[in-house]
Amino acid sequence: MEIQILGSGTCIPSGRRGSSGYLVTLDSTKVLFDCGNGVTWKLEKSGENYLDIDHIFITHMHPDHNADLIPFLFATKYPAENQRTKKLYLWGPQGFCSFLKSIQDIYGNWLNPGNTEISEMDKQEYHFDEFNLSTIKTGHTENSLAFRLDSKGKSMVYSGDTDYFDSLIDFARDCDVLLIECSLPDRLKRKGHLTPSDVIRISNLVNPGILVLTHMYPVCDTENIYEQIDKGTGSQVILGEDFLKLSI
Ligand SMILES: [Zn+2]
Ligand SMILES: [Zn+2]
Repeated sequence: MEIQILGSGTCIPSGRRGSSGYLVTLDSTKVLFDCGNGVTWKLEKSGENYLDIDHIFITHMHPDHNADLIPFLFATKYPAENQRTKKLYLWGPQGFCSFLKSIQDIYGNWLNPGNTEISEMDKQEYHFDEFNLSTIKTGHTENSLAFRLDSKGKSMVYSGDTDYFDSLIDFARDCDVLLIECSLPDRLKRKGHLTPSDVIRISNLVNPGILVLTHMYPVCDTENIYEQIDKGTGSQVILGEDFLKLSI
């Protein structure tokens, strides 16, 4: 399993970090988690073809996690040389179908590339040929989700946006990679997001193989959140960066 960060930032423009997007490549399946602004372009910049994506899973309905569905679907509609031949599966939380319908109403047929299946995720477990996908509601918005992908004995968990909540621990326990949001330093703690102290608490309960920090507001890059977290947890810690790749 290869995991690539396409956007380790938030809604705040930053020369270093773009909005959320994470590409997971399995033997013959490509899965995109979130599609925040800039992600479609970054797929190409990292040598991927947007037409190769099989599934897009959206954690929640904030623009830094889904705004690039507009250029993604528009590009998919465009009659390119290598037009999309396989089906595209779009998944999101409750409200996702009406969200997509609303933007399709605005942009008309340009955002309706055909050969797509759109689903709201109302189950905790989904089984696909090469992977299993689990969902859990997070402490961020009413319908926000976190995802766990298990494939061939390896596992990655993506927290989405969230505050601390107890059931995240069992959900993520002993995963190989935990992509965890760390939005703000402790002194700027805001409800619905994590800070280094929260991340340390979660990491020490979950015991991930690798803890990857992501979804960082620009202020995080001026304060030593990496050092604070690295000191506080026994897991290997990686400071997420756009285009960073990990293989497990
Ligand atoms: Zn966000
Ligand atoms: Zn959010």
